[in-house]
Amino acid sequence: MLALVLTAPHEFVVKEVPSPSPRPNEVLCRVRAIAICGTDVEIIEGSFKGRWPKAYPFIPGHEWSGEVVEAGEIAREFGFVPGTRVAGTSHSGCGYCRMCRIGRYNLCLNYGREDLGHRQYGHYTQGAYAEFVTQTIKSVFRIPDAMPFDVAALCDTASIALHSVKRAHIDPGDTVASVGSGGMGLLVGMCAKALGAARVLVVGGGKRLERAGALGFETVDYHGGDPVARVRELTGGLAPRSRPRSTSRRSCSRR
Ligand SMILES: [Zn+2]
Ligand SMILES: [Zn+2]
Repeated sequence: MLALVLTAPHEFVVKEVPSPSPRPNEVLCRVRAIAICGTDVEIIEGSFKGRWPKAYPFIPGHEWSGEVVEAGEIAREFGFVPGTRVAGTSHSGCGYCRMCRIGRYNLCLNYGREDLGHRQYGHYTQGAYAEFVTQTIKSVFRIPDAMPFDVAALCDTASIALHSVKRAHIDPGDTVASVGSGGMGLLVGMCAKALGAARVLVVGGGKRLERAGALGFETVDYHGGDPVARVRELTGGLAPRSRPRSTSRRSCSRR
């Protein structure tokens, strides 16, 4: 298969590599769409060298969608048959530690222990900038037939945005400010609206902020003065010193 192979910081080639074959709890998928995460750029630059990736050569990529072409024995038992449309996520926890067992597998206590079943695809486990990728069935999710692959490739990203918004405990009718007008900031705005926010202000700049406006969000340009003061002006917000604690629940950011 063809894959983008990183050989050193800033150095990569697209070349033929052996296609991976699935273990019993894994699926081999044809990658049909993949997004470029901000983390991918840093991985390629070598910002996390020694951790993400642990070693070269390495195939990055973790925000993808595609279809199953081959399934291991356990994967088949769970209904992952050739043709199943899926979206991938980067984390696959060990499944047994305390964090995995309360559903917080992204904080698996056995992080990095491939011998105990942990994986983080495109970070330290080989990823999906390739024609095919092999992942555990814990890290792929079935997608509806009507969902286009390019939209499905953003499931991993959108899940992080949704998690951020849920942590802000937004109630119907709330006003929300999303700091950042990139992919994540826009997804945070969309998730806030989906959870009932009446007004969503996106703080950002340039073409990305124009995009936020085109998507129907109120916009605050951080090049045009103090964005906090502007948000406060638009929302009748209180000054930070006198702000009661509870109002912090009414805003959320990409973190
Ligand atoms: Zn990502
Ligand atoms: Zn675990």
